[in-house]
Amino acid sequence: MNDDCLFCTLYRDGDHVAAGDGFVAIRDINPQAPVHLLVIPEHHIDSLREIAEFSADENKRMLEFIAEVAAREKLTDYRVEVNVGPGAGQTVFHLHWHIKGGWKP
Ligand code: AMP
Ligand code: ZN
Repeated sequence: MNDDCLFCTLYRDGDHVAAGDGFVAIRDINPQAPVHLLVIPEHHIDSLREIAEFSADENKRMLEFIAEVAAREKLTDYRVEVNVGPGAGQTVFHLHWHIKGGWKP
C-alpha cells in the first residue's frame, strides 16, 4: 500500500465492479469504449516492466480475474490493454489492465 498512489487508494476505498483475492475492477472515469474497466492488483508495481516481482500464481490469478470480470460484464468480444510508460500513454504508475468492450456488432 502506497498512500501516495491513486490506484492503491482505489484498491482499498474505490467503487468496485468486482473484487477477487488481491484484485479489483473499477469503471474507468473517462471511458474510451462503451464498457471500459480497469483491473487493479493489490500488489503495487509501477508498471508491467516490474512484472518479475509477481509470482507465477499471482500472474495466473490476475489473468483469470480479467477474464472473469469480462464474462461477468457479459463482454463476448473485448480488448485488454496495458500502457507501459508515458510515451505509450501510461498516466497512473500502478500496474493496471484496461478492459474495453461493449461495441455493437
Ligand atoms: P493509463 O493512462 O493506462 O495509466 O490509465 C489510467 C486510467 O485511469 C485512465 O484511463 C483514466 O481515465 C483512469 N482514471 C484516472 N483516475 C481515475 C479514477 N479516479 N477512477 C477511475 N479511473 C480513473
Ligand atoms: Zn499503487
